[in-house]
Amino acid sequence: MVVLGIESTAHTASVGIVDEEAKVLALASDMHRPTAGGIHPREAANHHVELLPGLVAKALEDGHVRPKEIDAVAFAQGPGLGPCLRAGATVARMLSLAWNRPLVPVNHCVAHVEIARVLSGLTDPILLYASGGNTQVIAYFRGRYRVLGETLDIGIGNFLDKLWIGLGGTFPGGPALELEARRGSELHPLPYSVHGMDVAFSGMLTAALALRAKGVPRTELAYSVEVTAYSMLTEITERAVAHRRRNEVVLGGGVACNERLRGMVREMIEGRGGTTFAPPRSLCVDNGAMIAWTGHLALEEGLVAAVEESAVQPRQRTDLVLTPWRERNGTSRPAPTVPLLASPA
Ligand code: AMP
Ligand code: MG
Repeated sequence: MVVLGIESTAHTASVGIVDEEAKVLALASDMHRPTAGGIHPREAANHHVELLPGLVAKALEDGHVRPKEIDAVAFAQGPGLGPCLRAGATVARMLSLAWNRPLVPVNHCVAHVEIARVLSGLTDPILLYASGGNTQVIAYFRGRYRVLGETLDIGIGNFLDKLWIGLGGTFPGGPALELEARRGSELHPLPYSVHGMDVAFSGMLTAALALRAKGVPRTELAYSVEVTAYSMLTEITERAVAHRRRNEVVLGGGVACNERLRGMVREMIEGRGGTTFAPPRSLCVDNGAMIAWTGHLALEEGLVAAVEESAVQPRQRTDLVLTPWRERNGTSRPAPTVPLLASPA
């Protein structure tokens, strides 16, 4: 079985082709880079519309796969930016109809967990999902993937990007800040906003820019921001680990490429006798291979959609998505026997 997956939730247009052993046969991606300011959904969608047909062709060519060898077409249904999602979904529907193959909608956040799970061999890890628009701690229990904690304002990646642009840099800010922060050593106090298992970053953004205006060197600021923000993420992950009594953590999202964040999470979980895993960069950032792999899992369960039922869901909630494959493989808890949400009295 071979599934082609299309990712287009935000900046990245990507096409992956994956076989039933989770071997990535091909991965072709291109990221929209705004020249000024943040991401504009319409501009990013135009980028995806323009590039996706070529990325499909490139993936087929790179993977030496003929269209008739593709068994299903999966696409990211949500959550994400509406125009961007629609660009990917339209291409997926078109391929599904042209090739007469099933169409498989996939949740983007679940796909980050599933690719990390299959690559690591960890059966029931907690996911720290740290990307541009999303910052969430996700765990599987009682039949669903559930968001235990998340950002109350902006995603960690957007925060890093805005900060770097505010410091005179260009998008994307995360990797540039990482290089800058490596040379820093002096910790300047910044707002540390952890609320239960949730976090917030906008106060830190304002405070960091104010420190810069007072003359704190960019290097020290980058160092202080990384240490503070990644401590917050490590803390909420540890809370989830302690609460769920799990000792496995996987990382996903572009910010999870950061060595300091990886190191802090590793130190935390190893201190508790557990293990951590982060996929290689190409499978950590948004990518079509994770959509294709999750498409395999969904396809086995018959979770296919007719074209008229395949509308994108920009606000799709992870805990409303069915993941029946988890009942059989890897959950250490029985399926729920009580309603998942208490019904009103
Ligand atoms: P994603 O939204 O998952 O595609 O990831 C994009 C985000 O990851 C952007 O906000 C980048 O600034 C951020 N990012 C990428 N690499 C790194 C890194 N090494 N350290 C911190 N942030 C990063
Ligand atoms: Mg993502």
